[in-house]
Amino acid sequence: MTHTYKLLPLLLLSFAIFKMSAQETIPEVEALLSEMTLDEKIGQLNLLTPGGGIATGSVVSENVEAKIKAGQVGGLFGVSGPEKVRQAQEIAIKNSRLKIPLLIGSDIIHGYKTTYPIPLGVASSWNMELIESAAKMAAKEATADGINWNFSPMVDISRDARWGRISEGSGEDPYLGSAIATAMVKGYQGKDLKNAYTMMATVKHLALYGAVEAGRDYNSVDMSKVKMYNQYLPPYQAAVDAGVGSAMTSFNDIDGIPATGNKWLITDLLRKQWGFKGFVVSDYTSVNEMMAHGLGDLQAVSAQSLNAGLDMDMVGEGFLTTLKKSVQEGKVTEEAITNACRRILTAKYQLGLFDDPYKYSDTSRPEKDILTAENRLAARKIATQSFVLLKNENNVLPLQKDAKIALVGPLANDKNNMLGTWAPTGDPQLSIPVLEGLKNVAPNAQISYAKGANITNDTELAKRANVFGLRVDIDTRTPDTMLSEALRNSKDADVIVAVVGEASEFAGEAASRTDISIPQSQKKLIHALVETGKPIVLVLFSGRPLTISEEFNLPISILQVWNPGVEAGNAIADVLFGDYNPSGKLTASWPRNVGQIPIYHSMKNTGRPAPTHEFEKFKSNYLDSEISPLFPFGYGLSYTSFEYSEITLDKNILKQGESINVSVKVKNTGNFDGEEVVQLYLKDEVRSITAPVRQLKGFQKIFLKKGASKTVTITLSANDLKFYNSELKFVAEPGKFKVFVGGNSNAEISAEFELE
Ligand code: BGC
Repeated sequence: MTHTYKLLPLLLLSFAIFKMSAQETIPEVEALLSEMTLDEKIGQLNLLTPGGGIATGSVVSENVEAKIKAGQVGGLFGVSGPEKVRQAQEIAIKNSRLKIPLLIGSDIIHGYKTTYPIPLGVASSWNMELIESAAKMAAKEATADGINWNFSPMVDISRDARWGRISEGSGEDPYLGSAIATAMVKGYQGKDLKNAYTMMATVKHLALYGAVEAGRDYNSVDMSKVKMYNQYLPPYQAAVDAGVGSAMTSFNDIDGIPATGNKWLITDLLRKQWGFKGFVVSDYTSVNEMMAHGLGDLQAVSAQSLNAGLDMDMVGEGFLTTLKKSVQEGKVTEEAITNACRRILTAKYQLGLFDDPYKYSDTSRPEKDILTAENRLAARKIATQSFVLLKNENNVLPLQKDAKIALVGPLANDKNNMLGTWAPTGDPQLSIPVLEGLKNVAPNAQISYAKGANITNDTELAKRANVFGLRVDIDTRTPDTMLSEALRNSKDADVIVAVVGEASEFAGEAASRTDISIPQSQKKLIHALVETGKPIVLVLFSGRPLTISEEFNLPISILQVWNPGVEAGNAIADVLFGDYNPSGKLTASWPRNVGQIPIYHSMKNTGRPAPTHEFEKFKSNYLDSEISPLFPFGYGLSYTSFEYSEITLDKNILKQGESINVSVKVKNTGNFDGEEVVQLYLKDEVRSITAPVRQLKGFQKIFLKKGASKTVTITLSANDLKFYNSELKFVAEPGKFKVFVGGNSNAEISAEFELE
């Protein structure tokens, strides 16, 4: 009797577990699996790109049609358009033995055809509703064109502006990055994946890809677990918590094991600790690349990846060509292959592809859903919110709509660099150049245009940036002729608007740079323009934080616009002329020089903290540079100004598990209505492992009419006080905490409380 009583909880538990797994197995999928041969199961693990479409790596797949017929393909990417997708599905449905529909993937990183700003720009809006709606719009357009699976969001934290892919993520901060990851997953997937307007999202790149050494793409990563858990992993986990359908492994190694074959990462962390239920896909040939990492031949690395928990092999066909042999040799089990296949079939089931394989092939949709006026308007709005006003010298901005403007610069009348990197589905020719935008928004302005300089005069750099088409167009005229023309045009102007910066392919994949300043050709132009003594507004394009100390010290205004997308010119004009008051805030610190990298607001104090501005021997500082960034995380100006009053807390002593409300009064003290991102930073004063000097733990974007004020309350939850300790336990330790609230990470107004 006693025994049964003791066993009861165990029995109940095993029943619960049985029930859970019973709920998760889908009868249709199980029935299908029971009919599949080993070859057919392996076939489902194979993801190909037929080429001719949008190939994003150096290898493309061959004999795709024959392979689909033979049941050797689980999904395709780089195929789009409802007819083409129908054709592809028909090959699978009509010609393969088991008629299993295909996943149709794509990289829709910042809009499908209605390209909106690069993710680093969108993040700068700090507007989660806007970000979710942007992803929703992308899903609506992409699904209209046959795509059911997106390789986004990219949530890699990066603190290294040399890394070209910093443009594709949300910046340096895990808290903000997690909020954005959640918003994007929700936007893409909606509430029901079966809905033909939603698509499955992929969180990538698992993991730590943004921490590649020296900012060099695909380089190695080595990081303590404490740093991973506290600083780099939260956004991936947030995407999992938001129900993301798939995850993509990264190219780098972690603790010496490439992510794609890393069992700790895929099975222990992602599946067991985080409870991820979806499927895991490799990155482009990243299984094969484990050979170059030095882990063995294709059979060995494919077996290692499968055994680590990888389900789908992108492009490299290592799974397709070696797994059967590995089963025969006892290196992998058929059960492991069945499990991977089950996860992929489950995704297809969740997308409703078994009910209707052609549900994304409605030929009437593209016209109704893609590049509509409404979508373009939305892209324009998203772009305006992504811009960050870095400096407004003598309040030159906003400009008068009837001003005499000398518009100069290599990006002033350009279509090829508006969309930004990773926009293979967008058409640069549909984008609005700045010149056109200014004319649209201010038809009464007198605008003269001169190119003034090339993006760069370095022909080798230009060649490298032109791999996807013309981005750097080196003029046939000499630099001096171009400069003279610009100076002539500027003579009678009230104001000079200089549109300068990076070509779009100066950032992105395989586009790391060691020099992240404005190219010399353009610096020369800027200095010559300053000599005119006219007010100058620099409209700055880039896919990353740049080092612009030199330009910042000139008497000029600077509006950072990233790569704004298809509505670039209109959005820039909206902000320059004050139809929209800029509200963007940086999500990655801007270094003063490359030597400061990695640089981020949540740095540690060290045992020898340096004074902020002066040099002091035997302190943690540099002989030749300040340690602070040029622009801190969270920084961004407005045409108006905001004043913060004292912080009030609803309690000063907190018990474990309790939350605390932090309130502050914000007043619009300037002459324009405007938005402000109210940011809350937390410092854990004493704890068992070294703590960041402060960490973002809350924010609210508010609108205030001029003269108006508002009390903003941000709640710090019990979880916000927690961190992963040296045993990787997520704990809040008793002691003093300090909160700071303000408009950037240098916020000074603070209050203290204690956790018991
Ligand atoms: C990139 C991924 C992308 C994949 C497929 C890779 O080179 O790293 O982010 O999803 O290609 O295009």
